[in-house]
Amino acid sequence: MGYKLNEKLESMQAYKPIEGDYRVRLDANESFILPDSKLKAAIRKRLESLAFNRYPDPLAGELCDLAARYYGSEPENITAGNGSDELISIIVSAFLSKGDTLLTFSHDFSMYAFYAHVFEARLLQMSKREDLTIDFEKAAELCKNENVKMVIFSNPCNPTSLGAGKDEILKFIKEVPSLVVVDEAYMDFMGQSLLEHINEFDNLIILRTMSKAMGMAGLRLGFAVARQEFSQALKKAKSPYNVNAVSQAIACEIFSRPLYIENSINKIIASRDSLLKEFKRLEKDTSGKLKVVGGQANFVFAKAEKAADLFEYLKAGGLIIRLFDPYIRVTAGRNSENSEVITSIEEFYTGR
Ligand SMILES: *Cc1c(COP(=O)(O)O)cnc(C)c1O
Repeated sequence: MGYKLNEKLESMQAYKPIEGDYRVRLDANESFILPDSKLKAAIRKRLESLAFNRYPDPLAGELCDLAARYYGSEPENITAGNGSDELISIIVSAFLSKGDTLLTFSHDFSMYAFYAHVFEARLLQMSKREDLTIDFEKAAELCKNENVKMVIFSNPCNPTSLGAGKDEILKFIKEVPSLVVVDEAYMDFMGQSLLEHINEFDNLIILRTMSKAMGMAGLRLGFAVARQEFSQALKKAKSPYNVNAVSQAIACEIFSRPLYIENSINKIIASRDSLLKEFKRLEKDTSGKLKVVGGQANFVFAKAEKAADLFEYLKAGGLIIRLFDPYIRVTAGRNSENSEVITSIEEFYTGR
């Protein structure tokens, strides 16, 4: 009985999503839209003829063809992953060797640092500016001076909901010797995608997901879009049957309906815009106790006085959001959900 976990495992903590039954869940940037009856019927039909006894297509060929069409790319530039989460893991493990330097920013998506730890990369976390934007000139200097092998960031950013413009990022990619991984999980809500530029650089990988704009977080499907050489490398490095047959089949039905996707995105953007408007109104009405930072993704990020108390107050009322003390992040939900949260925040600050 002398076996001991190594230090790496000892120091890790399991990811804990917020548990419990809440009336309103605006904590995970999920979509509030479920498939309509037509889409559901098509999915049912697909699943009826699925060869459950067979391993799935290892390269998810049909899906990558359809995804390529949707993303305005070519099938040979697409790799499907079991969530973009898995793709982050594959990219960090395969493109970095132990001890290689990975540059991330703070705040940004926590999984980047997580995988750096798991695969024993050297992690550099550069702070963002006061206003939570990225100083790309400073980042480029770091890349050159610190022998950075890979940079990864989300654009627009989770959790800040701020996005950097296309030109600024293109300039950065051109300037640095590092591999640049741009996680565009929320780009459908901002419209500054770099997808059309993948073949102009030898150091760019773009990540997309079906979890946010397409409302399919339960499927676990993400895509890496990159020049062919990178796609081939990713396909070599991934486990062979990484995307299950059920997810492949359902995702094909979604991508066959670009209008359905467009409608969903428009609904989510409308919800985000109205949530943002209400936040800005609260900013005035609370004399700045609440201060909006960003609203370019499908959520609003704001600095909140007594953020932890506010979080508990909402939770006690059955409303769950995400706390990044002293900030809060609220996903754009149904109108009724947004109103409930806004009303409760207002109550918390004004006592009305
Ligand atoms: C939600 C999210 C993803 C999506 O991850 P999946 O594994 O595809 O569900 C990726 N990156 C960021 C920054 C996210 O917030």
